[in-house]
Amino acid sequence: MAVNRVPLIAGNWKMNLDHLQAIAFVQKLAWSLADAKHDPASVEVAVFPPFTDLRSVQTLVSADKLPIAFGGQDVSEHDSGAYTGEISGAFLKALECSYVLIGHSERRTLHAESDEQVAGKVAAAIKHNVVPIICVGETSDDLEKHGPSAVPVAQLKAALAGVSATADIVVAYEPVWAIGSGQAATPEQAEQVAAALRAELRETLGEDVAAKTRILYGGSVKAANIAGFMREPNVDGALVGGASLDLNEFSSIVRYQK
Ligand code: PGA
Repeated sequence: MAVNRVPLIAGNWKMNLDHLQAIAFVQKLAWSLADAKHDPASVEVAVFPPFTDLRSVQTLVSADKLPIAFGGQDVSEHDSGAYTGEISGAFLKALECSYVLIGHSERRTLHAESDEQVAGKVAAAIKHNVVPIICVGETSDDLEKHGPSAVPVAQLKAALAGVSATADIVVAYEPVWAIGSGQAATPEQAEQVAAALRAELRETLGEDVAAKTRILYGGSVKAANIAGFMREPNVDGALVGGASLDLNEFSSIVRYQK
């Protein structure tokens, strides 16, 4: 049976916009969605601000009941304790975060996050009822050596180590060579890997999870190329970096027409 997956357009702000800029941006985004008569049941919109912005974003979103979800860009494997600089899943949940990005390639590269740590973070997010957006993707070297799907599928397999078949998760396929490069994958490339990731979900967690889990594409997504990705049957949305910081561009991405 075909399952209707609500597309998710997610903006990864990375280390951009302080809490005042975040409030202004989210308010303007909400106005733009309202002007466009945006229907949250047809496309879900989420933003991922820096940790220091989350309380302000939560206050605005909950006071005005804005149709914008939000989440953290990372989470600790641990619940609490002597982990200077880390943020617990419990804290994210207390701020009403729906989602958290886990295993973004910048975390894997700049902070040497291992597959085991990613799996620990995924388990921690699920434990605290925050939906993990599990980021996977190959470098251009990986692509040359192992072909298109091997590394993302292996990363996903490792990340699912502590996940049960009832868990709510999102997967983001982000080829490292496409992130911030202006050189997006083609829709066909994204579909090929997304289909392989869905097959991995089916094998590891069963048909139900495979059918309901949204798989996003990320890497140089913009208004001009979003529709092509969204036409692919296994691509259920986008994780947008640079273009998510430009209000007009991000609003246009949300309003893509297939
Ligand atoms: P980009 O970043 O859209 O700027 O390529 C995507 C990401 O890193 O999530």
